[in-house]
Amino acid sequence: MKFGGSSVGAPDRIARVIEIVRGRLPRKPVVVVSSFRGVTDDLLALGREALKGDLSRLDAVGRRHRDAAKALGVDSAPLEPLLAELAELARGVSLLKELTPRTLDRLAGCGERLSARIVAAAFAKAGVPAAAVDASEAGLLTDERFGEAAPLPEADALLRAALSGPGPLRVVTGFIGRTRGGEMTTLGRNGSDFSATIIGAALGAEEVEIWSDVDGIMTADPRLVPGARPLETLSFAEACELAHYGGKVLHPHTLVPAMRKGIPVRALNTFKPEHPGTRIVAAAAPAHGVALKSIAFKRHQLILSASSPRMLSGPGVAAEIFGAMKSAGVNVRMISQGASKNNVAFVVEDAAVDAAVKALHARFFPI
Ligand code: ASP
Ligand code: MG
Repeated sequence: MKFGGSSVGAPDRIARVIEIVRGRLPRKPVVVVSSFRGVTDDLLALGREALKGDLSRLDAVGRRHRDAAKALGVDSAPLEPLLAELAELARGVSLLKELTPRTLDRLAGCGERLSARIVAAAFAKAGVPAAAVDASEAGLLTDERFGEAAPLPEADALLRAALSGPGPLRVVTGFIGRTRGGEMTTLGRNGSDFSATIIGAALGAEEVEIWSDVDGIMTADPRLVPGARPLETLSFAEACELAHYGGKVLHPHTLVPAMRKGIPVRALNTFKPEHPGTRIVAAAAPAHGVALKSIAFKRHQLILSASSPRMLSGPGVAAEIFGAMKSAGVNVRMISQGASKNNVAFVVEDAAVDAAVKALHARFFPI
C-alpha cells in the first residue's frame, strides 16, 4: 500500500492513512510512503541554495517535520539524527561548492526517511505496532544512475528477506535505494510508486495499491477536463502508454515489476477510500461502446526531421542519428520513418533540443 505526498502531507491525512491500513488487517500489508508533499522540492532547492552558501531552508524543513510529529503526539527525538545528517550534508555542499547527482540523492532521500519515521510512530501510537524501514537498508539495490536509478535483480531476494515474515507493520521509504557500494540513490521524481511495485513484486503481493488524491486513472486530466471520469480497469499496456504520454497518476516505470509477476495494481483515492479506483491487470476488457479509454498528452515536444539521399542508398544513417542522441543523453520519445526511407523524424523534449542539435552537428559535421 503506497501513500503519496498528498496522502501523508498533513497530520489529519496521516490519521486517514492509518484507518485505511487498519481496514486491511489482519492481512499483512507493507506500507510505502513518499515524503510529505513539497518536501522533495524543498530538499532539492536546499541543495541549490547551499551551493550559494544559503542554508536558511534547513530550519523550515526541520520545523515542518518536528511540528508534524508534535501534532500527531509522537516523539520527534528519532528525527534529530536525520535532521543533523541533512544539515551536515547541506553544510558540506556549501563548503565544497559542489553539488553532484550523488549528493542530491542523499539530500532528496531524507524526505522519505523522515516521513517513514513519523508515519510509523503514528501507527504505533494508534495501536498498530509498526517499524520504519529505509528501503536503502532493506535491500533495494540499484544501479549507479543517481537521480534515476533502476533496481538490480538481486534486490528481490534481499527485499523478501528484509520485509517478509512476522513482525510489526513495515513502513518503508519510497523513492530511495542504494548501490552495491552503499551509496544512496533515488528512482527519479515520483519514484515512490515504482518502489511500491518493486517491493510488491519481490514479496509476491496479492495486489499493489497506489493511494493518491484522485479516484484512479481518468478519461482525461481532471484539471483540464472537469467532466473526466475514473476508469474501472486498464491493461498494463494501456496504463504504461498513458504514464509515458503524460498521465500523472503513475510513474512510467511503475508497472514493469508488477507486469513481470502479473500482480494487479490498483490506483485509489485516500480521500474516498470506498471508491473502487482503477484496477490495472494483464488483460482488461475493452471499454464499453467507446473507441478510446483515456486521453493523455505531453506539452513541450519538438519534432526533428532528417532527410538524406544516403538513407536510400544504404543502411546506417538512422543508427548514426540515434547514436548521437544516445551519446548526448537525449531521450527520444517517438520515431517515424517514411516508407521511401529517405526521411527520419523523431520527437524530443523542448528542453533537450539544444543538446540534440549539437549532437547531430558533431556527428555529421565532425571537425
Ligand atoms: N518524494 C519523491 C518526489 O517528490 C518521490 C514521490 O513522491 O514519489 O519526487
Ligand atoms: Mg506521486
